[in-house]
Amino acid sequence: MADATDHYSTHPARHWCVVEAGRVQCKLCPRGCVLGDDQVGACRNRRNVAGRLMAETYGRTSGVAVDPMEKKPLYHFLPGSSVLSFGGIGCNLTCGFCQNWHLSAEGTPRDLGDETSPAAVVRAARRYGCAAVAFTYNEPTVSLEYVIDVADACRAAGIRTVVVSNGYITRQAAEELYPRIDAANIDLKAFRPAFYAACGGKLDPVLDTLQLIRHSMDTWLEITTLVIPGHNDSDAELRASAAWVTQRLGPDVPLHFSAFHPAHRFMDTPPTPDSTLLRARRLAMEAGVRHVYLGNTRLTEGADTHCAGCGALEIRRRGYQTDASGLCRGRCSSCGAACPGIFEA
Ligand code: SF4
Repeated sequence: MADATDHYSTHPARHWCVVEAGRVQCKLCPRGCVLGDDQVGACRNRRNVAGRLMAETYGRTSGVAVDPMEKKPLYHFLPGSSVLSFGGIGCNLTCGFCQNWHLSAEGTPRDLGDETSPAAVVRAARRYGCAAVAFTYNEPTVSLEYVIDVADACRAAGIRTVVVSNGYITRQAAEELYPRIDAANIDLKAFRPAFYAACGGKLDPVLDTLQLIRHSMDTWLEITTLVIPGHNDSDAELRASAAWVTQRLGPDVPLHFSAFHPAHRFMDTPPTPDSTLLRARRLAMEAGVRHVYLGNTRLTEGADTHCAGCGALEIRRRGYQTDASGLCRGRCSSCGAACPGIFEA
């Protein structure tokens, strides 16, 4: 556990219990941190204050930006719209390859701004013409209490909400969060338990979250895998992962393969070659995934959305320029087949 260094919010946390006098256990994620007085959980967002768990960073963000929805990435959710994106600090996993490590691994409460009320978030989304608000950049679920309050305020105001998450959350917390969330992009970092163990986590809870969102929630789901040379890019692993997606989630869940760039503790690992991304896409499509996209690359293959029925171009993407004129009310303009996703604001 991290040492106590900063006392700020006195906002009560959810999902915890007392294990003995003065010691509490957080039940927000499968790590289940047991914390003595004044100790902070591994995610650096939740503190035991006098025997009660507090949401240490409630309402305080490390950065806000207006992003294209495609940057989350979400390709089948309000294409071409703008999304007001918030980040915090900390994470409940410790991935050495993290592309946002300056926030997730090294961010501290001192990097956060003043508390922003949910009503102020709604006002900002309206001011900037955003169709949705996204919780992203670091792992947002470690700030569950704030995400829930903002999501409720957004829903009341007719603004959609997006979560970009590692999916490492307990079922009870996920069941509270995702009914409030309109779309999620969940990382499937690899398909081997040993890979997740090296990140301080486990594979199975992530698979459980994916199935919960897909089958028990109205939340639109897309998945991202950061493809890291030599670590999660074997044919066997890519095939097994895509087969699981097809069989357990269905062929209509979009899968994004994103190129790795050297970062954090993986500075000696080379960037992902285009050939690896193309191979991952081919294997996933052979396994039955209908919409497979490539990100962090200049490749045009894997950028566009084509009708799974007739093959017509539905959405063309170049950089963050999006042309969805091949879709009409969520249906292919050529054959009329429905495209999976949410396309009407
Ligand atoms: S959310 Fe944070 S404090 Fe809670 S169990 Fe996970 S890592 Fe520990």
